Amino acid sequence: MKILVVGAGLSGAVMARQLAEAGHHMTVVESRAHVAGNCHTERCPDTGVLVHIYGPHIFHTADAGVWDYVNRFARFVPYRHQVRATSGGQVYSLPINLHTINQFFGKAFSPSQARAFIEETQARHDITDPQSFEDQALRMVGPALYEAFFQGYTQKQWGCSPADLPAAILKRLPMRFDYNDNYFAHPFQGLPEAGYTPLVAAILDHPKIDVHLNTPYTAQAAGRADHLIWTGPLDGYFNAKLGHLGYRTLDFERFTAQGDYQGCAVMNHPDRDVPYTRITEHKHFAPWESHEASVLYRETPRACTGDDIPYYPVRLLRDKALLSDYEALAAAETGVTFLGRLGTYRYLDMDVTIREALDAAAGFAKA
Ligand code: FAD
Ligand code: UDP
Repeated sequence: MKILVVGAGLSGAVMARQLAEAGHHMTVVESRAHVAGNCHTERCPDTGVLVHIYGPHIFHTADAGVWDYVNRFARFVPYRHQVRATSGGQVYSLPINLHTINQFFGKAFSPSQARAFIEETQARHDITDPQSFEDQALRMVGPALYEAFFQGYTQKQWGCSPADLPAAILKRLPMRFDYNDNYFAHPFQGLPEAGYTPLVAAILDHPKIDVHLNTPYTAQAAGRADHLIWTGPLDGYFNAKLGHLGYRTLDFERFTAQGDYQGCAVMNHPDRDVPYTRITEHKHFAPWESHEASVLYRETPRACTGDDIPYYPVRLLRDKALLSDYEALAAAETGVTFLGRLGTYRYLDMDVTIREALDAAAGFAKA
């Protein structure tokens, strides 16, 4: 079969690879000048620092099959992601752990003392069935920690009150009663030594795959194919005829410094009077390299309009209703597979993205 893939991010690349290995002829069109989608990395010519162009990306997974898959195409270096937060003029460690609790309350609690303290003096027991982000946070950590670490950050990140957001967003962040400050709890964690773009290029490197960069999708290209894999925006496929699905975009203010600017890869800034959410210092994502100069991104979220890059699907009530209308249209399309974070309008980590593409390709081969 001749199959057209729209998008050369992880979804499109993995799908193209799997279907090429199954004997299909794959053409991949990508509107950007590079492969790898939002995971794209590029070495800064002035400083030599490997930059995560669309924001910091750390590979972490509990899926051994996915971990084996990425290690087939690139060398991964073990990495342990640690995040700090500057709140009210002090620097804390995230996710909230025993060190954060002891420092914040000026105590020297043991794990069981800290658990009892939070449960008995902080957690809001009057909230019995938390549905919103705010209620979930108040129930879990109480008002003081909520205001210091979550309220301002989340308001800036999503552009609305945490009271209007689903509790599920907070569930991505654990609270720990030990000194473990590993941001992720997954057993496999690492970074591709040469960056994500060579990883994706290696996945796409197959004699039955043709990649065309700087090539937006056209209906004529689809006409020449027997099947279409769509990893672009779901509403974009239908020319947004029902309206636009809501996204947050990010403004990255890039700046350089000499030496070590902040001493860690990611410093969150949850305070409400600071306009940005976090600062990323890219060279800390490659601690095995040595660079005197440093490249940093100051990250400010805002509503996505026009030609902005869509980053985070908002999925508030209006978007959910619109999404189910688009899903009905997508289900009625024949010869098209919708895939990936844009094609299914969901926040997907890289490992889930790869798993879904592997499963979709396996399902396709069986059909
Ligand atoms: P994308 O990477 O968006 O790829 C889609 C591609 O399709 C793009 O290259 C786009 O240019 C192309 N395209 C779209 N429309 C068209 C068209 N009409 N014609 C041609 N091409 C088109 N995940 C993690 O596991 N760990 C992290 O630390 C992490 N950090 C993140 C940080 C940020 C700020 C964000 C926003 C996401 C993060 N993610 C992280 C998630 C990760 O970015 C996604 O899992 C991944 O990008 C999904 O790949 P994809 O191929 O589905 O989508
Ligand atoms: N969050 C927060 N304070 C922080 C970090 C995260 O309030 O310092 C909230 C915020 O709403 C964010 C969510 O927790 O969207 C999930 O955090 P995560 O670090 O997973 O964000 P992402 O990787 O999606 O940027």
